[in-house]
Amino acid sequence: MKPVGITTTVPIEILQAAGHTAVDLNNVFVTDPNPERLVGLAERSGFPLNCCTWIKGIYGVCLDRKIDTVLCVTTGDCSNTIMLMEVLRLKGVRVIPFAYPDQPDVGRMQECLESLAGQLGTTVAAAEAVRNDLAPCRELAGQLDELTWKEDLVSGWENHLWLVSSSDFNGNPQQYQRDLEQLLSQCRQRPTPGGRLRLAYIGVPPVFARDLYRFLEWQGAAVVFNEVQRQFAMPRPGHSLAEQYSHYTYPYSIFNRLEDISAEIRRRRVDGVIHYVQAFCHRAIGDIIFRSMIKTPILTIEGNADYVLTPHLQTKLEAFIDMLNRSRQPLQDGT
Ligand code: SF4
Repeated sequence: MKPVGITTTVPIEILQAAGHTAVDLNNVFVTDPNPERLVGLAERSGFPLNCCTWIKGIYGVCLDRKIDTVLCVTTGDCSNTIMLMEVLRLKGVRVIPFAYPDQPDVGRMQECLESLAGQLGTTVAAAEAVRNDLAPCRELAGQLDELTWKEDLVSGWENHLWLVSSSDFNGNPQQYQRDLEQLLSQCRQRPTPGGRLRLAYIGVPPVFARDLYRFLEWQGAAVVFNEVQRQFAMPRPGHSLAEQYSHYTYPYSIFNRLEDISAEIRRRRVDGVIHYVQAFCHRAIGDIIFRSMIKTPILTIEGNADYVLTPHLQTKLEAFIDMLNRSRQPLQDGT
């Protein structure tokens, strides 16, 4: 299976049907022991300081790992990817463009999938068989999510890690399935902490994930909803690939995302929302809409190229959690 880099969640079933292994370049970047080095590679190649760290990290990974083929999403992800794609092309990397339709329409999605399958020399029918093979992994990811918010047996960090990894199943779905089965059986033996503050995390995954979730846990708050990470696992698989990727909210209007977010905030009894925005990302403008439409208390935090939480962010998070705890107090006291 030849590795193909991906810049975001894409229909990996088609890549697999064509004999490729998807490698999510974001995950390789952020789990590298020295991500600054990868960003440095991009900046020395001329990427500006005010370009998003994820884009520079992806480019750095391509150079560092000598990735020779990358599937780039040109509609439904990031406007910077278009220029990243051109630079990769200049460097001799084979780039395969993929565009999500601008609306979550099953018929148009089917056409997009057929076009991608045609470029890769396979068929959507072959990819549907792969979809069936991946179903147990997606089902386990759903169980992990339920154990997080229904029973408080899985931490927000574990939830983040396993859901964010479902974009490529760490390049080895069978291993992912075995490891996740094992984790879930361990989690079911854990005592339930209960009574903790319940938070939702919305927005793109953070560059300082490990530190953020650890800090929130330490403050006594449980992240019971990771919005985009959950979407990567395809929580509504539908009856076909075209349905599955039409139900996936991230590539479409922010109002599609809001429907999902609002429903999950209610269902999961969320006390407060953390909206993460990446410096220099166009999606940060969506904060205006989230702040206007989400009625649950919301804190916006921004990350750039710090891979740990700065003291400034720690103070903001601490104050937010303190405020939420105070507003819960009268209810708990019954006053
Ligand atoms: S964080 Fe924003 S700018 Fe950066 S890669 Fe993602 S969508 Fe693009």
